[in-house]
This record gives sequence, structure tokens and C-alpha cells, in this order.
Amino acid sequence: MDTAQQIVLLTEHIHLLSREMAWHYRVLPKGSTVKQVSLYCESEADGESLAADLEILLGKQVILEPVPATTIARLLSTYYLKDNTRQLSTQVNVKHDEDNFLMNLIGEAKNLKSSDIHIERYENKCRVRIRIDGNMVERYLLKDEDYPALINKVKIMGNLDIAEKRLPQDGRINFSHQGHQFDIRASVLPTLYGEKVVMRLLNNDATDIDLNSLGFSAFDLDNYLQGAKRPNGILLISGPTGSGKTTTLYATLKLLNKETRNILTIEDPVEYTLEGVNQVQLKESIGLTFAAALRTFLRQDPDVIMVGEIRDTETANMAIRAALTGHLVLSTIHTNSAWGTVSRLIDMGIPSYMVANTLNTTVAQRLIRLLCPHCKQEKVFDEGLYPRQFKPYQQVAVHYTAQGCEQCYYTGYKGRKAVYEVIPVDLDLAREIKNGNMNVQGLLEERGIRTLAENAFSLFSTGLTSIDEIYPLLFNY
Ligand SMILES: [Zn+2]
Repeated sequence: MDTAQQIVLLTEHIHLLSREMAWHYRVLPKGSTVKQVSLYCESEADGESLAADLEILLGKQVILEPVPATTIARLLSTYYLKDNTRQLSTQVNVKHDEDNFLMNLIGEAKNLKSSDIHIERYENKCRVRIRIDGNMVERYLLKDEDYPALINKVKIMGNLDIAEKRLPQDGRINFSHQGHQFDIRASVLPTLYGEKVVMRLLNNDATDIDLNSLGFSAFDLDNYLQGAKRPNGILLISGPTGSGKTTTLYATLKLLNKETRNILTIEDPVEYTLEGVNQVQLKESIGLTFAAALRTFLRQDPDVIMVGEIRDTETANMAIRAALTGHLVLSTIHTNSAWGTVSRLIDMGIPSYMVANTLNTTVAQRLIRLLCPHCKQEKVFDEGLYPRQFKPYQQVAVHYTAQGCEQCYYTGYKGRKAVYEVIPVDLDLAREIKNGNMNVQGLLEERGIRTLAENAFSLFSTGLTSIDEIYPLLFNY
């Protein structure tokens, strides 16, 4: 008999054992009192010595309940994932109550500042995960039979076709939670074992976004603002998806949003609504592309234009044209580094003299997770933890690593900060662009420009983040 079905670990008991302890001894928490801890162990285990070891570690009397080794294995990988994403999921029964479950789920995700909710089905389980600070955290395991009703509920809310189960669908849900209105973009994708739903919670309230608290150093912020306050030119922010570029742009728009300015945006999706700004949602299926919107915007007497992303030559050309004709254009672009934006634009077919004449500021951005202050572990630093070629900017004697506790959903991290590299394009740099000289390292150093790596390193050396978190940035692009 497989007893796995009957064993459900309670969320409040998970913290009784560390991940390492659970895997090492192959035990799972059943319950605890002031003096005792009950644990499931493998039926083949030597109970006496196991209990003796655990009593020392846990400081309580240990009661063991043997169960099949396969059950332990399955539960370990469900509740104590080895890759530092230990989970807090609970088994739920949503039958006849899918309305409430969904409403509570969305409300909970919103309260936890989650960006996305994933509802997915595998061969023999259904689960709900939410993304917090860029990391997926498992929240609920669902019964197989509850799944279809839940998916239907999402489809109804998003005005989608319930009968359509073979094609992907997209919809928008307006949701009200604790007096706040916000939009949810729902996407349904047919997968092998059923439809997968992803709900992106859009942060419609922009009141909390502020350029001063995003992570700019005082020097970088000053350079950035010089660019944002110029009446024309292009200000570009580069970085991968999910690096917070859009948030920086909204913070900038908030600053520029004055009665005297006409601001137009074309976005995909419109993440925040800003009063006084004319925001347009991209809709490529009807020809409302970034480039088409830009063309129309130029006839709308704009002062500032925000374009969600420059991803093709046509959009790049239109953005350059808008900048040349006396407008300030804000946008994002996919490149690895701030200076890489110049080559990217030239690769897109923009002549280098045009880039030189219009590019006003180029920025690179990443989001760095901050270590959870409740559980981070102090360690003696070892130079071997750096990538081989990396020359540290300063000595680090002690550093901190991620551990995981209830406060951080066992991820070891809590909250994020942006790190930036801001390059104001002055006359000298513009001349180098015009001459096709991409090697401007010396000029950037002369100006005291701090690289992404340097800024990320200072988050590490001050103990706010781990070496793992900044490691990818320590390579030279
Ligand atoms: Zn923690």
C-alpha cells in the first residue's frame, strides 16, 4: 500500500527540519509539542541511532514513525526541494468552492507582492506556484478533479472561450482587492496534461514608484536625471526581461508628468496607469505595432514619448526620427551592457552618425535579490568563489549566504534592488560613436562611470546580497 496519499505535511511543521537535515536523515516532520518532535522515517532505518542523532540536533525527544522509503523520497522532493527552493505548499480541496479559492489565491499573491500566478497540471499532480522576487514558490497542490473547474473559472473571468482547449488564449481581468483595482493578464496554454494558466498581476498603482528608491547611486541618479530632463534625444534602458526596466521608465514618466507636457506611451502590456499620460496598449494583430504607434504619435504634438521596447529596425528608425525632430524618447532594448546598446542600434541598420546625434543616455539595469535579513548566514570569504578572471574591487573578509526561513518562503532572499550602469552620452562619446570606435573604456573610466559589476559588487561587499546572486555580472561582457 502506498501511504503517500495519506501523508500531508502541514506548512507550520516544515520549519522543524532544515532541508539538509531532512535529506541527510531522510526524515519528515509530523508534529511537535514543547518537549517532543514526531517524525516520519524510512521503515528500514535504524530507529535507535537515528533518534539519538536527531535528539541532539533538535534538542527534543524524538518519536519516529516508519513509512516506506518511496514515500519519504516523494515527500522530500515535494516539500524539501534540494535546489534551495524549499516549499510551503499545502494540499487543498477546491471542489464546489473554486470561486473562493481563486479570489483568495489572487488576494494572497497580491499581498505577497507576487508578479505571476501559475496553475499547472502534470501527469499526476496539479500545482499552483507564484513568483516572488523573480523566484517561483510552490503554494498549493490541487486534486486532479478540481482542476477543470478552476481553469473554467479563470476563463470566465478573462472573457475567454471555455470550450476552446486546444489553442492558446489571452484575456484581461479587472480585479478589485482590499479597495484597490488592478488588472490581471491571463494566458492559457494547452500542455500535455491540460491547460496551463499564467496570471500576470499588473501593478496598476504607480504611487509607490520613485526614482530615489529604485537603487541608483547618487552619482548615477544625477547622470540619469540630466538625460531625462533634456528636451530631446533617446534615453535607453537595456537588460533582460524582468530586470525592472519598465519600472524605471514609469518612475521617470512620473517625474516628467507635468501639465505643460504632452506624454504619449505605447506599451505591452500597460502595467501602470498614470493620470495625465496618454497610454496606448500594443495590439499587433490589428496592426497597432510600436512603429505604427510612433508614426501616429508624431502627428499628436508630443513632448515625451515612451515606447515599450525597440526590437526591430522599423521601430528604431521611428524612434530616431522622433528624437531628431525635437522629442524626448524613452525606451528599452535587449543588450547585455549599457554601451552594447550603441552596437545594437547600428546592427539594426541605424547609421552611426544618427545614433551619435540622438542617443542621450544609455543605461543597463539588473535586479539583484537581497538576502533575507532573518536567516542569512555569515561565512569567511574565500577568493575561490569569484570567477577565475575576476579582479575584486576590494577585499571582502566575511560574506553572507542564503539559508531560508519562513519569512522568505525558504528562498533565502527577501526583496530586490536594481543595480545600474548609467552612461551620459556627451560630445566626446558621441564623436567616438560617429567614428565607429566602440572601445571607449578609457573615456568611461575618466568620467567615473561605475559598471553594473561594480555596483552589484558593492551590494555583495556590504552583505546585502550573496556572491551567487551577482556572480553572472562579474564576467566582462
Ligand atoms: Zn529567511
